[in-house]
Amino acid sequence: MFGGQLDRAAARANTRLSMSQRSLSYEAVILRARESPSGDRIVSLLSGDEGVVDAFVFGGPKSKLRSLVSPWHSGRAWLYRDPGRNFTTLRDFDAAEDFPGIRASLATIGAASLAAELVMATSAFGGDGPEARSLTLDLLRCLDGSDDDRAARALTLFCLRAVELMGLIPDPSECSACAGQIPFDTVHSYSRYSGAFLCPPCACQDVHPDAVLDVPPGALAWWRNSEGLDFAQAASAGLASQSLAAIKAVALDLAGKAAHGRLRTLESGVL
Ligand SMILES: [Zn+2]
Repeated sequence: MFGGQLDRAAARANTRLSMSQRSLSYEAVILRARESPSGDRIVSLLSGDEGVVDAFVFGGPKSKLRSLVSPWHSGRAWLYRDPGRNFTTLRDFDAAEDFPGIRASLATIGAASLAAELVMATSAFGGDGPEARSLTLDLLRCLDGSDDDRAARALTLFCLRAVELMGLIPDPSECSACAGQIPFDTVHSYSRYSGAFLCPPCACQDVHPDAVLDVPPGALAWWRNSEGLDFAQAASAGLASQSLAAIKAVALDLAGKAAHGRLRTLESGVL
């Protein structure tokens, strides 16, 4: 009898375990929706629970669920996972935020597309997902209805913070060639070849001069000031257009390197 109770307890525990493996629900952002060769829709989701997850969405082209799972929608996802076949299906999605203003301009569409690609290419910045989801939502909320300048600042911040989370940000105060100090209030030379900063003498002698980019001191000051601010505040802080262009170029270059060159939006010319 005692053994029977143990067996029943074990069976109940097993049932709970398999249920928890099969039915999942969490807050997620839709990063991408695409059609499989067989015509099914596959969505890539970003959650704070499992990072980036691909899931099938069944239903015809006009189904309600298919229209809810469009890129950048954020809300609660209900999924079913077949443990034997490692196959995940999205059963339902409740979009709490859909960011309609992002679709209003090419600058905001391009920024959101690049961010989604970076999250996917780096598997949520190599983490479990909470930081990537939080940073992605910060960006999407900022892009929704923003003008081109604010969109450029928001994308720049997103890339810099993502690369920092991955531990790949170069130190702008130290020359990557000679390890000498670079004075803060000078034009900084960023090398696209090495993905790091060079002091003035090393920049002059660099064997890849075409890859060296001048970054004005104002751009460095904006970057440093942004570190103490929340995302929306930092994206609101303005900077001269030349400085913005330079720090954005640095941020996109670092993002491209972190993603090992797998960012198609960067090559599309939209940004
Ligand atoms: Zn140097």
